Amino acid sequence: MIRSHEPGHLNRLAQTSATAIVARMRSVLSRSRLIFTLLQAATVMLLAGQAHAAEAVATAPNTQPVIDECTRIGHKLGSVSLAGCLARSLSDTGTRSVNGQAILMKEYPPLPGRKPIGRILLIGGTHGDEYSAVSIVFRWMETLDQHHSGLFHWHVTPLLNPDGLLQKHSQRLNAHGVDLNRNMPTPDWYRQSSAYWQSTGEDPRRYPGTAPLSEPESNWLYEQVRQFKPDAIVSVHAPFGVLDFDGPPEGPRDLGFLHLKLIGTYPGSLGNSVGVQHHIPVITVELPYAGIMPTDAQVSGMWGDLVHWLRLNIPKPSTIEAKARFEDIAQALSASMVQEGTPAAPGTASDGGLTTALPATDAGTTAPDAQVIESGKPVH
Ligand SMILES: [Zn+2]
Repeated sequence: MIRSHEPGHLNRLAQTSATAIVARMRSVLSRSRLIFTLLQAATVMLLAGQAHAAEAVATAPNTQPVIDECTRIGHKLGSVSLAGCLARSLSDTGTRSVNGQAILMKEYPPLPGRKPIGRILLIGGTHGDEYSAVSIVFRWMETLDQHHSGLFHWHVTPLLNPDGLLQKHSQRLNAHGVDLNRNMPTPDWYRQSSAYWQSTGEDPRRYPGTAPLSEPESNWLYEQVRQFKPDAIVSVHAPFGVLDFDGPPEGPRDLGFLHLKLIGTYPGSLGNSVGVQHHIPVITVELPYAGIMPTDAQVSGMWGDLVHWLRLNIPKPSTIEAKARFEDIAQALSASMVQEGTPAAPGTASDGGLTTALPATDAGTTAPDAQVIESGKPVH
């Protein structure tokens, strides 16, 4: 009995144990399922969060022209990687440089529920041998990608002159050998830019072109002024380590470690054209080195001061006035063209020898603007 009982008891024990084990297993399984379900939910939420964050930064996939140009920029600049360029999700404006390279732009649009207090146009790389002036705009775009609050509506072009930068020996000028910062329209452009260029000894690095806006890059820039109607323009250059300002009201005294020093205006320069003629404030940031980036603290210090100044100083009524000036300037230009003719191109037959006449500079070198420094007077 006992023996039979024992097995029965054992059976019962075994059954009880089996039941308990099954129950425990069910309980464990149930908890596992719960944990699994919770994990799944957390993963979904995490992925959704990532997707949302990704959406906030990347509004559209990079198109082939963007990928191609980012590849060239990544090869050229030590401070901008291919991945870093692609992560900015630039868009193709559709405008092409003389050599057919895309002019890329990133828009930081108004955000729902907040009317921006102004429109800001930020431009880097007008001169192709000023590497830091391109790199720092990418850095500031990274900041905007993370912190764009809708305070301003931004149009950002990190590289206005892709032909100047993206070649073996980067150069100040565009592929036609034109200084884009002398090719903007100013009323007496034909006479003044000719006289100015002669005063430089017909320096090929200052060649203003045959007519204002003769170049696709400068033309695109002026169209941005006309269409986007910025309340302020920020243009980045190197290597003079100062801050310049044109237009109303008064410029910022400091931008981080840079101090205001009014350099003066030149025929066909952006500051003259847009700042003086259109009364739109133009802040020109002259970084101290063309081939060496400011420190992280300096990069963010300048940005903080810039945003602070813009917040307090954008002259709101200027936009209307600026719009009205387009006709005046166009009329003054055509009148002066009839009177004065156009500046002759440097050299006689072609621009073929122009590139070799320029200081050859490569990414990663200090690349000081040798000829400008020799002149002893900062110009941008
Ligand atoms: Zn420059």
